[in-house]
Amino acid sequence: MSDDTENNAIVRDSSEFDLTGGEFATFLHEKCQGMKCPACGSEEVPMFEADSFDGPVHLSSSPILSPEGYGAKGHCTAICQSCGYTWVFAAGFIFDWALEKRMEDSHSEE
Ligand SMILES: [Zn+2]
Repeated sequence: MSDDTENNAIVRDSSEFDLTGGEFATFLHEKCQGMKCPACGSEEVPMFEADSFDGPVHLSSSPILSPEGYGAKGHCTAICQSCGYTWVFAAGFIFDWALEKRMEDSHSEE
């Protein structure tokens, strides 16, 4: 084994982002209030790629090689229902937001 394999876990891999459709929908609703399509001006709630509200969001990912290690950066996309304009969100931000929500929810249920 060479030394460079020891650093592989430093860049977060998108496979750890287990976001649900419902979490992405809530993220868009709470974090992106007033979201308006820059292409056509539609204020309709955008579509996004997910199995269901309880099912996983589909991420597109691309490999990243940085001095700190290797990983994959995931993206979530939201699509304008009127013209198809597509927003691209870095999944790590949504995942961190969702983790905080899960913590809050688990505390409020106690
Ligand atoms: Zn549009």
